[in-house]
Amino acid sequence: MANQFQSQFDKQKVKSLTLRTESITCRRQRLKSLKTWILNNKDKIRKALHADLRKSETETDITEIFTVTTEINDALSHLHQWARPQHVSPGMTYLGTSARIKPEPKGVCLIIAPWNFPFNLIGSPLASCLAAGNTAILKPSEHTPATSKLIKEMVEDVFEPELVTVIEGAVPETTALLELPFDHIFFTGSTNVGKIVMGAAAKNLSSVTLELGGKSPVIIDETASADDAARKIVWGRFNNNGQTCIAPDYIFISDIVKDKFVASAKKYVSQLFDSNNEGMAHTKDYSRLVNANHASRLVDMLEEAKQSGAKIEFGGDHSTEDRFIEPTLLSNIDESNRIWQEEIFGPIMPMKVYEDINDVIHHINKNDKPLSLYLFTTSRKMKKHITQATSAGTMVINDVVVQYAHPNLPFGGVNHSGIGKSHGKYGFMEFSNQKSVLSQRIGLTNALLFYPPFNGFKKWV
Ligand code: NAD
Repeated sequence: MANQFQSQFDKQKVKSLTLRTESITCRRQRLKSLKTWILNNKDKIRKALHADLRKSETETDITEIFTVTTEINDALSHLHQWARPQHVSPGMTYLGTSARIKPEPKGVCLIIAPWNFPFNLIGSPLASCLAAGNTAILKPSEHTPATSKLIKEMVEDVFEPELVTVIEGAVPETTALLELPFDHIFFTGSTNVGKIVMGAAAKNLSSVTLELGGKSPVIIDETASADDAARKIVWGRFNNNGQTCIAPDYIFISDIVKDKFVASAKKYVSQLFDSNNEGMAHTKDYSRLVNANHASRLVDMLEEAKQSGAKIEFGGDHSTEDRFIEPTLLSNIDESNRIWQEEIFGPIMPMKVYEDINDVIHHINKNDKPLSLYLFTTSRKMKKHITQATSAGTMVINDVVVQYAHPNLPFGGVNHSGIGKSHGKYGFMEFSNQKSVLSQRIGLTNALLFYPPFNGFKKWV
């Protein structure tokens, strides 16, 4: 069956070959045009995000617009340096030669995005992709249709289709796209779909970046400031209605600081999200779940936990119709509950008191490696121990979520939470092939000793 997207792909393939020889200035020009469109259309972006996720304007500015313009600005400032060939030493054995590592564009790239930060998670990888000199086909999420439509409008305004094009759609469209022999696929989404993407990529040996999900644990030990931890966790968990890949998903807490943590968390929910005392169902600073299906799934998880004896420390109110669940903290969790087993991706947070930190480490290590691990402590020994004894894509001590925007840290998961890294130089590298270029002098070769005939040579080893 002829692939419906073959002709778009073929046009990009031809274009991608011409991009190989163009100057860095052309890439910078594209990034500037993208940035200009975004800055001139902030209101349209805010409206789309409000229609899809009822995000407040400020939240959209910070988590959807600023994140993309920051990625573009970083590339504009550093692209010459990132793209410069890196000369390497010949060592004793290659004296007389010169060698360099030259980042070259991969070619035609596919970027597939989820719905939770639907503008940012197309825009940021697109910036890295263009900075590295590639063409791109973009597939936004079908669950955020207003943003998907706007992304299409943006791309049609700024780029020719041979360079960047948008395919809107859901599973059938993505499945058809995944049959094409892309030079690189950058996927952000769930672990299960990540496996499908990697399986499809294997058929064409396309390289992949997989930015996936999972359960990101938080440890709060007896030396932590419970109030500080509560403020940061409440923001990180309930912002975007908990629909953040690196949101703290569940908590292990020391009994010594538990009561203080619960009281502070309750206080900060009102202070941060309902400062005008309108009630959580009405405040404009608290966004909504993406759709009623997702809300039902979360309500089912909550009910199951309650029936198994979970205690609601605060929250628990919900309206599936309004895609609303109050910020909720649960304790006394039965470990067999879905809320303890699956990625939650919503505004409910389960918490367990621990006695022995080794049990916590054992729990983390027996499960899939998390995208992020958060530790609240003032103990140097604990910081060192947890950093060494566990694995995670990113780890933050005494804060949450802020690692995402760090200008010089790679972002990404490990195994089930992701493969490959993004952001800044790391995003550029992901969309580039590190080509080794070795230059020899006429009449010389370092391989002379290996040329036959072999008689007369002593044994080498
Ligand atoms: P998803 O995996 O359901 O969908 C992501 C994309 O894949 C969408 O564009 C969708 O159309 C497509 N897709 C869905 N099912 C498919 C299939 N069977 N075959 C081919 N394509 C398919 O993810 P989601 O629900 O949109 O997003 C939530 C998930 O994304 C969470 O698990 C979250 O942790 C993760 N996430 C990760 C990051 C990160 O940076 N690591 C960022 C945001 C979200």
